[in-house]
Amino acid sequence: MPKRLFLIAICLTIRMILPGEIMPGSEEAISRKMLALRFAKDRDALEQFEPDLIIKEDGYRQFLRETYDLVDPVPFQRAFPLIDTTRVTAPGILDSALGLALASELGKERMIRDQQLQNYLNQVAALVASNTELPGLKPLCYVLDKIEPASYTLPGAYIFLTKGLLLQVNSEAELAFILAHEIAHIVHGHFYFSTTEYWRNLSAELLEQNPEKLNSIIDGNATELDQNYACLLEDTMQSNYEAVEALTDQAALRYLIRCAYSNHTIMDMLFRLLRFPPSSITQHYTKESVRSRMDALRNTIDSYIVHNRRTLDKDLRYNRYKAILTGRTQ
Ligand SMILES: [Zn+2]
Repeated sequence: MPKRLFLIAICLTIRMILPGEIMPGSEEAISRKMLALRFAKDRDALEQFEPDLIIKEDGYRQFLRETYDLVDPVPFQRAFPLIDTTRVTAPGILDSALGLALASELGKERMIRDQQLQNYLNQVAALVASNTELPGLKPLCYVLDKIEPASYTLPGAYIFLTKGLLLQVNSEAELAFILAHEIAHIVHGHFYFSTTEYWRNLSAELLEQNPEKLNSIIDGNATELDQNYACLLEDTMQSNYEAVEALTDQAALRYLIRCAYSNHTIMDMLFRLLRFPPSSITQHYTKESVRSRMDALRNTIDSYIVHNRRTLDKDLRYNRYKAILTGRTQ
């Protein structure tokens, strides 16, 4: 994979969409893998990375039962309907292939591979996603063993969080907000590159089972794709970054409250991140970025409170999984 692409993986949150679940061994999974090989720098890394974390429906149902044993999310969903479905767009297999290739590069970093922890993160992410304009989206979460707070969202809805970020989180609601922010980028098409339609059409062709033809098209256009991502990086680093982040936080709050999670401690969590050394290794959680997000949130956060309604309180559950990160059992 060209260096620029990898750089972007480290620096950016990008959008693109995985259309819900892709079963291993399905034709779509095979096509995605085949395409991912074209973008992967390291074939072995890709082989090793092939996601092993497809969310299990039974486990997810159990998680939902536990989650909503005392709380009804419907009043929250009614109070905060989805507002912007216009920019939500059809998924493309090319997106998820590129994401898989990028994720396999990131996956070469030291990771915390704990099935229980990852299942839990995926379940919370799926719950948040189910309250967005793309309810079928099933993000896949991974934990990097780094102490600096950081997060990366790749095409295809691969979300990487660092251990350092998760350790600053004190409740499931706070975790849900972190994930909701990443998911909001995915759903709302931020940082999408300019030839979106063109590449989406290509993806559609792939789905029509014409891999031979597509191979040649993609071979011919890989450089163009690469250039587009380079432009994307530059655009994102421009001055609109803060504005995009503020909008993303607003969407994240809406998703959070639609799940019935409390938003009471979100500002506290951002403040904790602000105080926490060392600084982030990505723009997303630098002190400057967190400070400007807090400024933007301060005026609006109270408008997301639903009075006289019980909100979710799953701090004990979160702390159980957090213990995995610290090596302690509770
Ligand atoms: Zn962001």
